Amino acid sequence: MGSHETPPYFFLYNFPAIMYEHHPNSVIRKQRSNVLKTTMKPEKVEFFRRMLTRKINDLLDEAGKTVSEMTYGVKENYPDPNDRASLESDRNFELRIRDRERKLIIKMQEALKRMDDSVFGICEVCAGLISEKRLMARPVTTLCIDCKMKQEKMEKLKGE
Ligand SMILES: [Zn+2]
Repeated sequence: MGSHETPPYFFLYNFPAIMYEHHPNSVIRKQRSNVLKTTMKPEKVEFFRRMLTRKINDLLDEAGKTVSEMTYGVKENYPDPNDRASLESDRNFELRIRDRERKLIIKMQEALKRMDDSVFGICEVCAGLISEKRLMARPVTTLCIDCKMKQEKMEKLKGE
């Protein structure tokens, strides 16, 4: 009977290595010791670096334009209170946009930092490579599509 029992580490070693820090192939262990680096070609990384840098510059340009447009708007005279109200809400809208842009710029800068650390395009949950197609659409992402979908599912469950 005893000879048919499952070896104690059988289950452990048949689960993904990521889950077990003491597993010899643990991705977490590799990450901690900074062994984990992206296998993305340097040219590809450079492509994404240029793409993000350009996006950051565009956003900064856009933000500059928004500020000047707002300043222009303030100078205008709105005798009608309804017009003034709409101007106020326009301004709130602009501020929200700028907040959103600011957050996006931070995310992009973080992505550039990950390129410097050679971990750009690596999923922070499963440590797998994020597909280039996904990175093209969303270069600031830190999750592969599978982990993103799992996360969204969890959030949806929590929200309900
Ligand atoms: Zn993942």
